[in-house]
Amino acid sequence: MNRNADTEHVSECTVCGTTLIYGGTEKEQTCTFCGMSTYSPIYCPEGHFVCDICHAEEALDFLNRLTETETSIDPIEIVDRAMTHPSFKFHGPEHHSLVPAAILIVMKSRGISRHDGSPITKDVILEGIRRGSKIPGGFCGYAGTCGACVGAGVALALYLDSTPKRATPRLQAHRTTSAALDLSQDELIRCCKRATYYGLTAAIEMLKNEYNIDLGPVPKPQSCAHSETNPDCAEDECMYHVASMST
Ligand SMILES: [Zn+2]
Ligand SMILES: [Zn+2]
Repeated sequence: MNRNADTEHVSECTVCGTTLIYGGTEKEQTCTFCGMSTYSPIYCPEGHFVCDICHAEEALDFLNRLTETETSIDPIEIVDRAMTHPSFKFHGPEHHSLVPAAILIVMKSRGISRHDGSPITKDVILEGIRRGSKIPGGFCGYAGTCGACVGAGVALALYLDSTPKRATPRLQAHRTTSAALDLSQDELIRCCKRATYYGLTAAIEMLKNEYNIDLGPVPKPQSCAHSETNPDCAEDECMYHVASMST
C-alpha cells in the first residue's frame, strides 16, 4: 500500500521527493533555496537541503495571518484546519508554533486576559508563533524534548508573562512542557500531529486545572484525521489513530 499516494512529499525532500536522512550527527549544509549555510543532521541523499526558515516560512505566514482573522473558540478545530493548509508539511517545525498559536488565539477569541489582567493581543500571539519557530526541526530526536510539547510551555509562559527571573510563572511553564513530555513517552518515532495533540492537551489541562480557564475538551483518543497521509504512522500503537475494527 502506498500511504503516500496523494500527498506531496510527506516526509521527503521538498525539492525532489526522496526520503530524507535523519542522520546521527550534524553537518554543515547550504539551503538549496536561500543559500544560507547552517548545521543540521537532516538532509536529502541527493544533496538537497532546505533550512527551517524556507521549510516553515509559508506555514508561519499563514499562522501570522490567523492572528488577524481567526475567531474560533476551539483549539482542536484551529489545529486540524491548519494541518490541512497547503503550507503545512506533514512533519516540520511549523508545528512548534501551532500549539501556542492555537491556544493563545482561542484565549483571545474567548475574551480571556493574561494572568495579570492585560489583554491577549495580536502581538502576544505573534510572539508565541515566533518563540515556537525558534525550535529547530527534529528537536524531539536530537535534544531530548519535543518542539510541539515546548509549544505548550510557550503558551503558558506568555499567559503568565514568565521570564527567566520570575520563579512561579517559569515553574508553571516548565510544568506544562513537562506534562506534554509525559504524554509523549510513547516510545514511537516522531509524528508532529501526535505531538501537537499532546501539547494541546497539556496546555488545555494546565489552564483548566490551575487557572480555571476552560478552552473546551482535549483531543480525543482515536480522533486523528491525518493517519492516512503519514507513511510513518504508528497506527494502533498511537492513541490518536482511528482503530480499524468495525469491519
Ligand atoms: Zn532532494
Ligand atoms: Zn533556506
